[in-house]
Amino acid sequence: MSAPAILWFRQDLRLADNPALLAVQGRPVLPVFVLEDGPRAPGGAARWWLHHSLAALGRTLAERGAPLLLLRGDPRRLLPDLAARSGATEIHAGRRTEPAARQRDAETHAALQAGGARLVLHRSALLHEPHQVRTGTGKPYSVYTPFSRALFALLEDLPPPIPAPDRLTPVAGAPEGERLDALALLPRPPEPDWAAAFPAHWQPGEDGAQARLATFLDRGLAGYADRRNDPAAEWGTSGLSPHLRLGEISPRQAWHAARAKGGKGLETFLKELLWREFSHHLLWHRPEMPEQPLRPEFATFPWREDAALLRAWQRGRTGYPIVDAGMRQLWRTGWMHNRVRMIAASFLVKHLLQPWQAGEAWFWDTLVDADLAANAASWQWVAGCGADAAPYFRIFNPVLQAEKFDASGGYVRRWCPELARLPDRWLHKPHEAPEMVLRGAGVVLGRDYPKPVVDLAEGRARALAAFATLKGAA
Ligand code: FAD
Repeated sequence: MSAPAILWFRQDLRLADNPALLAVQGRPVLPVFVLEDGPRAPGGAARWWLHHSLAALGRTLAERGAPLLLLRGDPRRLLPDLAARSGATEIHAGRRTEPAARQRDAETHAALQAGGARLVLHRSALLHEPHQVRTGTGKPYSVYTPFSRALFALLEDLPPPIPAPDRLTPVAGAPEGERLDALALLPRPPEPDWAAAFPAHWQPGEDGAQARLATFLDRGLAGYADRRNDPAAEWGTSGLSPHLRLGEISPRQAWHAARAKGGKGLETFLKELLWREFSHHLLWHRPEMPEQPLRPEFATFPWREDAALLRAWQRGRTGYPIVDAGMRQLWRTGWMHNRVRMIAASFLVKHLLQPWQAGEAWFWDTLVDADLAANAASWQWVAGCGADAAPYFRIFNPVLQAEKFDASGGYVRRWCPELARLPDRWLHKPHEAPEMVLRGAGVVLGRDYPKPVVDLAEGRARALAAFATLKGAA
């Protein structure tokens, strides 16, 4: 088959284990990425990542002989035009689960068909198609445990990953695209360079993803079940989320590599990969999830929107060190440990009574792994309004959580260095520390570190009272 084909990269910025790439091998291929605008354009941190990931993908594709074409705009218009100019009748791409993207893919397919071409979608970002996992009665799942059990069984014979091709044949006379810099994905003055510290933490791109997986398998997997809740632990978790988000590594590669390594920690790790699948399953079947509570009674929840409280939370200045450490880690690195995400999110929606959508939006803008499905599902889970959510009335106490999961204080001391000299006993509750202890550690509350923005007992009581106003809440 020698008709040229277009390979449309979206959330699968890799050459290995790429089914869309496999489908076009042997033909002249025109690889393209389209920076789309739309209601859920990537946030700032994700745009930083995308820039570097596209640079890495562009280099690898050029080495294999078929350079990456960068475009910006509406694929419904751009791709039919590109197909006509290149003589391609097929555009291959990985399937997306986001509602707006699904709609756009259907419309792009229709626009292509009008010109005699078609869009062919492949499973690429997930282990299994979200619409194919069904309960015994043919319904989508809304509870994680039976979903994961069903999926584990379906994945027993998951085929091995596909190797990357050595060479690609380019399409003759491919058009000139945009320069990467012209996509303006990086922070630019007068904006402060909030991404300055990111390169010390991350290596975006397929090589970086593989290197991270290899190190995690060597140093993290065996202890994963015991250490995944310790935010100070090095390699306590994989840190693969931003790589998975843009498909620099496929979940199938991670799945098979972890299984090949085996040992203690394996099952827990595989279950986490299935949480990712579950989030996408939910989004597929409940496209309203990013905006609307999945439990309808929460539509009337009496949030108390307060810009100053939201700002204190965003800046890591709530007076609760574990929350502040998490929010500062997020700002500095574009990532936050999962346990701390849960604590910080719970604090916002319960103790501060701010709508979960405000937290979701902040995470969307600041996380390098911002993912519509995982972010919305997790926020709804924390807020108690999601499918299979933690009950609203179970309210995390940030001090007790910190004493349990950051007992030696390594995490808080790293991200809130102004508290570093406080003894362990007071580190997670400086507002309760005797004046002498504070003075000894060089901390004046309200000057060096904020006083608490809310009293925990009052915040908890207010949250429970708000919850009690919901009809049918239990
Ligand atoms: P590991 O512990 O190494 O887990 C391996 C992989 O499993 C992760 O890379 C991720 O792809 C997947 N995974 C793990 N936990 C979850 C989970 N609870 N839900 C879905 N997938 C999971 N994750 C995102 O990828 N993007 C988000 O935007 C996002 N927003 C979140 C918001 C809140 C409020 C909370 C509580 C969690 C959120 N998560 C999100 C889930 C989780 O925190 C991250 O996936 C995890 O911290 C990533 O770190 P890791 O790669 O080291 O994870």
